[in-house]
Amino acid sequence: MRLDAVRAQRVLLDRPDGQSVFEPATLRLYHGRIEAIEPFEAETEGLVLQVPDSAYVVPGIVDTHVHINEPGRTDWEGYLSATEAAALGGATTLIDMPLNSIPPTTTVEHLRVKQKAATTELMVDVGFWGGAVPGNVPDLEPLWEAGVFGFKCFLSPSGVEEFPHLTSEEYVAALTEIARFDGLMIVHAEDPAVLDAAPAPPSRSYADFVMSRPDESELAAIRTVLDGARETGCRVHILHLSSAKALDLIKDARDEGLRLSVETCPHYLSFAAETIPDASPQFKCCPPIRDSGNREELWAALKAGIIDQIVSDHSPATPAEKNKGDGDLQQAWGGVSGLQVGFSAMAFEARRRNIPLASVSRWMSRNTADLVGLGNKGRIQVGADADLAIYDTNVEFRIEATRLAHKNPISAYDGLRYGGRVTRSIVRGNAIDVEHPDWRWGRQLIRGEVS
Ligand code: ZN
Repeated sequence: MRLDAVRAQRVLLDRPDGQSVFEPATLRLYHGRIEAIEPFEAETEGLVLQVPDSAYVVPGIVDTHVHINEPGRTDWEGYLSATEAAALGGATTLIDMPLNSIPPTTTVEHLRVKQKAATTELMVDVGFWGGAVPGNVPDLEPLWEAGVFGFKCFLSPSGVEEFPHLTSEEYVAALTEIARFDGLMIVHAEDPAVLDAAPAPPSRSYADFVMSRPDESELAAIRTVLDGARETGCRVHILHLSSAKALDLIKDARDEGLRLSVETCPHYLSFAAETIPDASPQFKCCPPIRDSGNREELWAALKAGIIDQIVSDHSPATPAEKNKGDGDLQQAWGGVSGLQVGFSAMAFEARRRNIPLASVSRWMSRNTADLVGLGNKGRIQVGADADLAIYDTNVEFRIEATRLAHKNPISAYDGLRYGGRVTRSIVRGNAIDVEHPDWRWGRQLIRGEVS
């Protein structure tokens, strides 16, 4: 359904001082873009979406950390199921991680395989990260030229054999190359030596799992990330920060002027290790969910601008993979499935903490769009893509894993109720009907090309 205008009492608009505030407005849309921002009462023609007074219009979520897994592990997730879940959850742009699909996105040839698999499957826009693995330094610039938004690497084992981690030396070599063409390196920061030294007995207890991946593992790896950035001048980004103990280190690096950004995830901001029941692999992720004090420190760091972004790190797997070891968290596949839930969860959790919805939007849309240079997304401005999410606090979100669009019905959020949910997404001016999400409006995004 192609809209000509959206009229609402609460549209998140930019003020001249750089703050964003909700104001009544009519957005006039044309050819997938916001053509004009007019007063609420402005006359309109054509198909106008009248948003309920209880709802907020925010920029569509730009989720830069999603594992779509197709091709190769399409039974874990795929382009169609992932982008449907995204559309239902308010995410209008996804950037796909270079692993758990087969092949991984570590050469241009592999990128082409993934782009081909995504053709005709997309309900929302999708771009791609490249991967930095041992031996592929010569592939990095061609991948960048082919349109990936940056490169992901691991400093410890990734969990899949076709995507090995980099040693510190290999990491610096990749950074040196990426700095040469002024690209971006995004890092899974856990330290292999610290992980190896930590106790990791078979156990169904989440506390035991946390002990096997201690805070110090994140700290040590982040030191490696920062040393490399300092040495090479490369722009770096720390993925899924879990440990609040690393915040001082990050703050000092920012004060020092390193080119650094940091993300965390809804599961670290929603849950606490001490309340996770035994044998609950739906909560297993790496790095792990830590305690409630840690969780509140992450919220404070977002407010203070030490953490920039919130992304889903949607990393699903089949029930067989998640239940491997029958509840033993060392054997279960690590990854939380939260693509469809993340924004509604964060909006609710923020409201409980008196944090404005505008801040949540900034962390999940504008700042992530800026990370990947998508200046036409993540904002409601004249000329920007008409990518919008409508979030209604009068509609309850009762989460049942079996009713989410994710391919596999396993969710850490199963059984939760949130006051408020995303009721509609608009992708480049096209309204997606939550009840009939059968339109495929998405496009593939190439770095440097306007969508
Ligand atoms: Zn991930």
